[in-house]
Amino acid sequence: TRPNIAVIGAGLAGLSCARHLQDAGCRVTVFDKARGPGGRMSTRRGDDWQCDHGAQYFTVRDNRFRDEVARWETAGVAALWEPRLAVLEADGSVARKAPDSTARFVGLPRMSAPAGWLAANLRVHSGYTIVDMQHDRAGWRLHSKEHGVHDDRYDAVVLAIPAPQATVLLQPLLPLTARQTVTDMLPCWTLMLRYRTPGIRFAPGYDAAFVNHGPLGWIARDGSKPGRQGSETWVLQATAGWSAQHLEDDSDSVIAALLAAFAALGAPPPDEVTAHRWRYARAGGQQDNGQAIQQNHVDEDGESAVLREAIWLPAVRVGVCGDWLAGGRVEDAWLSGRTLAAQVLASMACAASS
Ligand code: FAD
Repeated sequence: TRPNIAVIGAGLAGLSCARHLQDAGCRVTVFDKARGPGGRMSTRRGDDWQCDHGAQYFTVRDNRFRDEVARWETAGVAALWEPRLAVLEADGSVARKAPDSTARFVGLPRMSAPAGWLAANLRVHSGYTIVDMQHDRAGWRLHSKEHGVHDDRYDAVVLAIPAPQATVLLQPLLPLTARQTVTDMLPCWTLMLRYRTPGIRFAPGYDAAFVNHGPLGWIARDGSKPGRQGSETWVLQATAGWSAQHLEDDSDSVIAALLAAFAALGAPPPDEVTAHRWRYARAGGQQDNGQAIQQNHVDEDGESAVLREAIWLPAVRVGVCGDWLAGGRVEDAWLSGRTLAAQVLASMACAASS
């Protein structure tokens, strides 16, 4: 019989894992607490506007991900973004970033599009926050906040959620030490600005900028990405340090502080603003040079495994994947899910291997 596998989390890691498992012949059901798939690779949409408020773009280093992005391009759900990039320094200088060899991709027509494409052939249950998982002889049973205990039994469960949330679900089950599962995840306060008044625009001569002073770390004109429609929109992201310091502030005071910093760059006040607080935005150990954070050592019942990019516990048939296990980016999330799927398939002898 086909293994029946539950995947918790419909971000890139969970969707990548689920697709590889399903393509290899497993029965797969994906659960996510949000309204739709995508996780942090996401887009906020209003009446006549949209804005990528999580991941801003993604890069490609690994050939396996290169092939996947080519499939997304062919399907029309991703495209190159070639912004005019700047670096803004404290002395007010604006350095134009020289065209580099980095290819930056975005979802088309919005960041969440590749996730929607990956989810299209999967059974995805949205609006299910998994709060508990229990094992008996028939398999794993999941308990969601919204719908109570689920009747179905699963042969294996994949956790494709940020480290702090995975730890909450895993801790009652397994004597994992903090080092094995807890990775610092850094927060990010984000603003989405709309300009609707005719003639009022911020046109600084760049489309996006790394900001090296004050509370802001990154600003970008969403409409400079391919295929975007609707009102003129800018996204502002605070630095991790500032966001951590102001994590519990109310959104009005955060909006005031970040708009002041944006005005200091010469931007006119927007007509509308929405704030979003990412409590777990980026993995703390992430490095921009593409190195993985660390290797993960898992000891369970004396069984020892050294795994990279994902954790698979064969004795209990629970797997963990996510960007935080592999480097902290969109690419890492996809690779982590793929690596875990291969481990699950090897361990459970599915029909075919991925
Ligand atoms: P997630 O996308 O977080 O997916 C986890 C999913 O699990 C979510 O959908 C969540 O709703 C769900 N979930 C959590 N707990 C539960 C539960 N108990 N029950 C059910 N569902 C649950 N990466 C880049 O490569 N380039 C960038 O420029 C970039 N910028 C970023 C900017 C910001 C502000 C943020 C937040 C992230 C950025 N990233 C960037 C990181 C990138 O978004 C992530 O690496 C990637 O999307 C993570 O995918 P994931 O599947 O591991 O996790």
